[in-house]
Amino acid sequence: MLAISEEFRKELNVIGGDWVSADSGETFEVTNPATGETIGTVPMSGKAETKRAITAAHEAFLTFRKTSAKDRARLLRRLRKLIIEHQEPLAQLLSAEQGKPIAEARAEVRMSASYVMWFAEEARRIYGDTVPSPWADRRIMVTKEPVGVVGAITPWNFPSSMLARKIAPALAAGCTIVCKPAEATPYSGLAWGVLCAKAGIPAGVVNILTGDPVEIGKELTANPLVRKITFTGSTRVGKILLKQSVPTVKKVSMELGGNAPFIVFNDADIDRAVEGAIAAKYRNSGQTCVCTNRLYVQSKIYNKFVEKLVEATEAMKVGQANEEGVVQGPLINEAAVEKCEDFVADAVAKGGKVATGGKRHELGHGFFQPTVITNAKQRMKFSKEEIFGPIAPVYKFRTEEEVIELANNTEYGLACYFYTQDLGRTFRVSEALEYGLVGVNEGIITTVEAPFGGVKESGIGKEGGHQGIQDYLEEKYVCIGGLGL
Ligand code: ADP
Repeated sequence: MLAISEEFRKELNVIGGDWVSADSGETFEVTNPATGETIGTVPMSGKAETKRAITAAHEAFLTFRKTSAKDRARLLRRLRKLIIEHQEPLAQLLSAEQGKPIAEARAEVRMSASYVMWFAEEARRIYGDTVPSPWADRRIMVTKEPVGVVGAITPWNFPSSMLARKIAPALAAGCTIVCKPAEATPYSGLAWGVLCAKAGIPAGVVNILTGDPVEIGKELTANPLVRKITFTGSTRVGKILLKQSVPTVKKVSMELGGNAPFIVFNDADIDRAVEGAIAAKYRNSGQTCVCTNRLYVQSKIYNKFVEKLVEATEAMKVGQANEEGVVQGPLINEAAVEKCEDFVADAVAKGGKVATGGKRHELGHGFFQPTVITNAKQRMKFSKEEIFGPIAPVYKFRTEEEVIELANNTEYGLACYFYTQDLGRTFRVSEALEYGLVGVNEGIITTVEAPFGGVKESGIGKEGGHQGIQDYLEEKYVCIGGLGL
């Protein structure tokens, strides 16, 4: 059994530093996807609570914006220390609501701490410019200022670190924030409220509410006090939020869906490619936006690669989050399992072969067998749609030109991967792929130091890297004249 810490199991919104229920007193249930058991209930908030949270964030902004970068960095370092100190209860809570193996949950919590540390450091490097003036008696300065109140909406696949990537740069820049975590995983979101209070972050700087996504999203996008929307989730919802942000001309950052190709050329180190494919495909049970959706393997090594991939897939242990050696947890809910069944049925009907897996796992609930499908074809549904589950379709290709065209033939452009030992090909292919993130001979590349973000319909803006703070800043040009020089 996972132990749920009472300190972090918060079942109230945090608005202006107070822990409060929804106005109506209504709640909704949160369940453990591995067991179907109810963990508890959290507030079903809507427009009115969101409006109050925005007002609280705005009031807090008026003073928080004036704090020094050094002070904000100190607050963030304290926050990071608390995350590390409470890694275990935070990881247990995360696993309970999300299902991922405890080792992955711990790694996610550490990743959150790393984001907080990174942006604590970046806070002190928000440099502006002085520009040579065309006028002898004037001087030109370009300064950076926090954009203001930020509205953040996050998904359930990384319920802690997706908020870290938004809360940390927002605070580093001097912004305040209203967060709405996903319905399936609100506890890891609300836990940020406990951590921020402990770290001494002033009331109203970080507000968190759970509830009706449509109502909360409408208020966050319509309210003129919110100056920026940052969203991680599906392209479908991202487009809704973009549209809703138009009337008040908000800044937007969108981390949306992906359809990552994973290309293995004849000259690749096959064992390394299999290892990378396992990581890129099955991490978080296939539920990440950078998970590979399509494995393209060159014809000469196709059979060998498939053989090794199937062997490695079958070696993965599926089970409960806290069981020793488990690397695959459940999917988030029943709908996700049904979607996987549908992908398999569609592929089989169109000539695909199930090399391993293909069905619900005997553990029931959200569990699905890690699956490899060979003879995958473009006409199959998963070549266009994000799988978000443990299914690895393997396509055969012949030439570099052909595979580049196939890989780019999607409206998405988040992550892609390829394996080759040829230096010229490394440059040719990484330049030809229309993606925001490219892994060459690596299956997992996300790190706080590098900018994460997609092109095409996968998004706008970057999270992480020195770029990650820029979206929370406005540039202001100040012209100082009459200097009498
Ligand atoms: P997923 O398919 O991964 O669940 P979603 O895009 O549906 O991705 O969800 C990501 C986040 O967006 C969640 O917090 C969810 O509650 C929220 N969300 C869903 N629909 C809307 C909406 N219409 N407006 C605002 N937020 C929404």
